[in-house]
Amino acid sequence: MSHPLRLVEIEGKGRGYVATEPLKGGQVIFRESPILVYSAYPLKRSEHQELGSVYSRYCAHCYKSLVSGTAGDCTALTCLSCSHPDYASFCSRNCQSLALSSTHSPFVCESLNYLRNCPLLSDNQPEERQVQARYLVTAYNLAMISPSAFQTLLSLHGNGARYMDIATFLHPIISSLPFPKGFDILSIGMSAGLLDKEMSNSFNLMEPRQESGKRGIRAYALYPNVSLFNHSCMPNACRFEYIDSETDGNNTDIIIRMMHDVPEGQEICLSYVRVNRTYSDRKKRLLEYFGFVCVCDRCKVEANSSQDESNCFDFGMKFVCDKENCGGTLAPLPTSADGCSSDYMECNYCGSLKNHKL
Ligand SMILES: [Zn+2]
Ligand SMILES: [Zn+2]
Ligand SMILES: [Zn+2]
Ligand SMILES: [Zn+2]
Repeated sequence: MSHPLRLVEIEGKGRGYVATEPLKGGQVIFRESPILVYSAYPLKRSEHQELGSVYSRYCAHCYKSLVSGTAGDCTALTCLSCSHPDYASFCSRNCQSLALSSTHSPFVCESLNYLRNCPLLSDNQPEERQVQARYLVTAYNLAMISPSAFQTLLSLHGNGARYMDIATFLHPIISSLPFPKGFDILSIGMSAGLLDKEMSNSFNLMEPRQESGKRGIRAYALYPNVSLFNHSCMPNACRFEYIDSETDGNNTDIIIRMMHDVPEGQEICLSYVRVNRTYSDRKKRLLEYFGFVCVCDRCKVEANSSQDESNCFDFGMKFVCDKENCGGTLAPLPTSADGCSSDYMECNYCGSLKNHKL
């Protein structure tokens, strides 16, 4: 992929992307398709989910919202084998047929059926365990349908040490899945590594915004190179996704756009956590999920400030969405064909636009 970035060694941080030319606010600097996407839903409808409502409202192949349909809607396109809209529904005949040899292969279909009926996985276990089992099915399926994409997945950061206990618990369950003969990469260590890579590198694909402002997660996605962007609590670029509106079959692509102009040679950073979080909250999350302590300029200032909870840093004023319950990051709309920046900032979380020249 060609983009105006170069990967360089950055002192104290490892590798990172720097701009090879001056970049404009709103400029799209990076775009890539996921290696894998998997549903964030537990395998079984939990008790608090209304009966009769559609449990997973997304296409099991492309993850677009499904417009119509209740559980009993016979117009919903389901998998011909598991044939229940809760298990797999598709937005089109095209997705239904593509899924057969990829995202919903016979291995995935049979494995998910097995897991749904596996008491070990549901009795006294958190729902998260079902989602982890679903992810491992997706990851091992990737090894079968695209060995090169699986190698890319293995090259992501995460050695698995912190997931050994969970992988050990899941191993007898995963070992019972209908793997093809000769499939020899399954092991506790491999599963632990895969789970760690997921935790360290995945991005949330959000549900459409509800009227209440609440948004759940519809799916998680892993991308080959976007994790190479380093973190800053004062990022100069942020990510966008247009999962329900892109029509070219690349709707789960991640798109990175500049928040403001930067000169050539400057490092391009994303924030791995929501930018409106307080210093102590960011510190806790970055350590827990990503395993590092941030020493960016904002952290240096806020670490020595007594008024942590009041967001003393003025970074938030311009780039944090002020819609209630949002806190998304704002970046100008994409630059025009002649490279001009837009007067409108778009929120990467709720999608609202704001004229920043007013
Ligand atoms: Zn679809
Ligand atoms: Zn199926
Ligand atoms: Zn920081
Ligand atoms: Zn917003």
